[in-house]
Amino acid sequence: MTVQNNIDVLVLGAGIVGVSAGLHLQRRGLSVALVDRRDPGEETSYGNAGIIVRETVEAHGLPETFADLFSYALNLKPEARYDWRFLPRLIPFLAAMRRLGGTGHDAYPKAMVPLGAAALGEHEALMRAAGAGDYLRKEGWLRVFRSRKGFEATAPMREAAAHYGIESQVLTPEALSEIEPHIAPVFHRAVMWPGTATVSDPGAVTKAYARHFSANGGAVLRGDALSLRPVSGGWQVTTADGEISAPRAVVALGPWSPDVLEPLGLSFPFIVERGYHRHFAPRGNAVLGRPVLDADIGYVLAPMTAGIRLTTGVEFADRDAPKTPVQLARVLPKARELFPLGEAVDDDVWLGCRPTLADGRPIIGPAPGRDGLFLAFGHAHLGFTLGPITGRLVAEAMTGETPAVDLAPFAADRF
Ligand SMILES: Cc1cc2nc3c(=O)[nH]c(=O)nc-3n(C[C@H](O)[C@H](O)[C@H](O)COP(=O)(O)OP(=O)(O)OC[C@H]3O[C@@H](n4cnc5c(N)ncnc54)[C@H](O)[C@@H]3O)c2cc1C
Repeated sequence: MTVQNNIDVLVLGAGIVGVSAGLHLQRRGLSVALVDRRDPGEETSYGNAGIIVRETVEAHGLPETFADLFSYALNLKPEARYDWRFLPRLIPFLAAMRRLGGTGHDAYPKAMVPLGAAALGEHEALMRAAGAGDYLRKEGWLRVFRSRKGFEATAPMREAAAHYGIESQVLTPEALSEIEPHIAPVFHRAVMWPGTATVSDPGAVTKAYARHFSANGGAVLRGDALSLRPVSGGWQVTTADGEISAPRAVVALGPWSPDVLEPLGLSFPFIVERGYHRHFAPRGNAVLGRPVLDADIGYVLAPMTAGIRLTTGVEFADRDAPKTPVQLARVLPKARELFPLGEAVDDDVWLGCRPTLADGRPIIGPAPGRDGLFLAFGHAHLGFTLGPITGRLVAEAMTGETPAVDLAPFAADRF
């Protein structure tokens, strides 16, 4: 087996986070190997709704209280469901959430708004360099509320966004029909977030960034990150090209990060929030200009190259458990009511896992007590949004530059 020793940094995981870290490290003159068991951008970074969220003021999905948990447990709300067998894992996670003050605490927007503010600019810079600009739409996105109660419940969130200078516009069904004529007026109000951008194929964007990384001399290697081990002077991993070692390594394995970190003695309050998608053809000449969240029901319709992608809310279940796409089946009639969806265009339903830490924030920065090891995972519902800014921050932290955003709220030792 060959041993390559001319690599400065091993980046484990070629999702949006790992690829972006690779690019930013490369820009700082470092020689980088990106290691994945698949091609870049084929897991979570492929299957998401492609929304580059600007209003990063509250965490999605997690039950804030045990009362929420029980309403989810009874599977009364289509936006979240859980498998009873997962409860022994969920309870300690929720206890950690409460200990940390919950995700609704002020600490969340204080930490996450600066990342959200930088996210689009960072994507655009990579898109320009990688020739991926055609995937980007700067048309905002929509949350529609079927009930007055649902709409009014979001007032604090909209006020928090306004406090941070993030614009939203409230639209009646009549006003919305001027920009989205095929969305049926089955809702009370819509909220448009004009500062949010979206992409028509997040997997293709990630792949375009990875191609740009390769074109600039970066190595994209097939390998199993579970083989990561400390060696004299750094870290080593086994790849299809042999053993590769480097003084530094980045763990950017999204939902699989704990598999590599726990054997190294690093464990964090972490769960996955599973989600499904399926593409549908629009009926007739119907067009959807931008993604729309049907907030009271809990799914997103996002126009993609492959068709209208219906993504579901959260399923709390074991990461590797078989698919149970009941949420998709439950929301589909409601989705058809909102927008004229035709037949499914893919044979099967896609399942992915949002990687989530107990305060809803990612870990970005050095691993405590493990020289040369850096962590970049736990981006939950915002990983596609935050991949490029995370990549920049990892590279800045590693090369001793002042980070563009304060990294203290993302430090691994906060838990
Ligand atoms: C239904 C759904 C909708 C979403 N919508 C949005 C959205 O609209 N906007 C947004 O910002 N975010 C969204 N997200 C969240 C976002 O997709 C994720 O946070 C993000 O993709 C995580 O990126 P990542 O690079 O950390 O992980 P991934 O993209 O999963 O990459 C991890 C990589 O690690 C590799 N890997 C794993 N194990 C090993 C191993 N042992 N050896 C080698 N390689 C390994 C995998 O092959 C994979 O390529 C959504 C998620 C879901 C599930």
